[in-house]
Amino acid sequence: MVKGLDKMPWKECERCSREFEPSGDRVPKVLKCGHTLCWGCIKHISHLDFIKCPFCKTVFVFSKRITSINF
Ligand SMILES: [Zn+2]
Ligand SMILES: [Zn+2]
Repeated sequence: MVKGLDKMPWKECERCSREFEPSGDRVPKVLKCGHTLCWGCIKHISHLDFIKCPFCKTVFVFSKRITSINF
């Protein structure tokens, strides 16, 4: 089965405008509000135990279990 980023509705992080990659800091992560950020941005916007979405300003408890996208 061919999986590719072209099938995704987004190809780059809306915060840092870098293309998503299957590993490293550019792995796309979906927040509970439905917005998608790369892991690097998640780390950037996360505080000690919460994270605030830069798009809709929703605050979540930060957990390592933020949904990952499987490639
Ligand atoms: Zn980013
Ligand atoms: Zn959001």
